[in-house]
Amino acid sequence: MAKRDYYDVLGVKRDASQEEIKRAYRRLAMKYHPDKNPGDKEAEAKFKECAEAYEVLGNAEKRRKYDQYGHEGLRDAGMHDWSRMHVDDISDMFSDIFGDFFGGGRRSRRTAHRATRGYDLETAVELSLEEIAHGTEKTIEFTRQDTCPTCQGTGCARGRSPSVCPTCGGTGQVQRAGLGGFFQMVSTCPNCQGMGRVITDPCPKCRGKTTVPKKRTLTVKIPPGVHEGQGIRVAGEGEPGHNGGPRGDLYCYVRVRAHPFLMRDGDDLICTVPISFTQAALGTLLEVPTLDGTRQLRIPPGTQHGNVFRIKGEGLPNIRTQRRGDELVRVTVEIPRRLSPAQEKLLRTFAETEDKQVMPESRGFFERLRQHFGNN
Ligand SMILES: [Zn+2]
Ligand SMILES: [Zn+2]
Repeated sequence: MAKRDYYDVLGVKRDASQEEIKRAYRRLAMKYHPDKNPGDKEAEAKFKECAEAYEVLGNAEKRRKYDQYGHEGLRDAGMHDWSRMHVDDISDMFSDIFGDFFGGGRRSRRTAHRATRGYDLETAVELSLEEIAHGTEKTIEFTRQDTCPTCQGTGCARGRSPSVCPTCGGTGQVQRAGLGGFFQMVSTCPNCQGMGRVITDPCPKCRGKTTVPKKRTLTVKIPPGVHEGQGIRVAGEGEPGHNGGPRGDLYCYVRVRAHPFLMRDGDDLICTVPISFTQAALGTLLEVPTLDGTRQLRIPPGTQHGNVFRIKGEGLPNIRTQRRGDELVRVTVEIPRRLSPAQEKLLRTFAETEDKQVMPESRGFFERLRQHFGNN
C-alpha cells in the first residue's frame, strides 16, 4: 500500500512550523486514539499513521530528508514499525505531547510506586478419608519470601539508605531524545525501574532484594468434606507486598490419600466386598469396613453378583450442608476354583435337585436360545 504524504496525514502546510505540526498531531492522535474508538481498526490505523507522520515531521533531520527525497529518503533513517507497535507504547512515547490524558508515561511511574499485593503461594496437604470426614488441623511447612530481618526490608546495609537515582534524578522516568533529537520519548528509568531511588550499599543478607526465603510453619484448619484438588485459602500467608501493599494468600490444595477399602464418589463411599456363592445363595451376616471401624451388614439369601447395599449416613459430610452421604457396599460373588472331593459330591447332589424354575434368568436365556435355533 502506498504511503500517504505526511503533510496530508497531519493536515498541515509544507511550511508549517514545528509548533503547528505538534498541535496538529496532538489533535489527530486524540481523535483517533483507540481509547476513544474501542474496537475501531480504522481509527487505530489512522492513529498509527499519524504517529508515523509525526515521527518524521516532528524531527528536523527526518523532515529535511523527507522534504528532499520523499518516503525513499527515510529508508535508512531508523523509523519505527508503527503498524506493529502497541497503542500503549505509542502513547507512552508521546506522553510529553498527550500529557497524562491517556495515562501515557505516567502509567509506568504509577505502577512502580503503587502499593501492590504480594504473590499468592500454594502448597499441598494430604488428607486421609477419616480426616476429611471429621475435619482436622494440619501443620504445614513451606518456604516463602519474607522481609529481610537484617535490613528490615530497606535492602540497604546497616546505617545506609537508598540514594536518589543518578540516572533519572529521582523522577523514575527518563526522557530520551527521539530519533534526530526533536521530540522526547519518556520511559521508565532503566536504572531504578521507576522507583526513583537506588541501593548503592546493599544489605549483605538479602543483597538488596529486601526479602529472603524463610521457612514458615502454620496450622491450617481443614473443614469436613473437602474434595481432591480443592484449595483452602489462608489469607495473608503469601509473600509480602510492595510499597506497603498487603501480603498475598496461601492456598493449600487438598490431596486425598487412598484408603485401603473405601473409594470416594462425591459424598458417598464405595466398598467392594467379595462373598462366596453359598453366602450369596443362603444369605449371611457380613463384616464390612466403614470410616469408623467395621460393622455388620446383613446380606439376604439370593443376593446376586454386583448387588449394592446402602448403609445410610456412613459416607462423607457434604462440604456445604454437612449432611453425610452413604456407604455403598457392592458384593462380588466368588466361584470356587477348586473343590474338595466331598464338596464336589455335595454340589453334584445339589445339581441333581436343581430346578430351573427357581432360576428365572437362566431359564429365560435357554428358552430364547432354543427358540432362536429351532426345536431340536
Ligand atoms: Zn536485607
Ligand atoms: Zn532512575
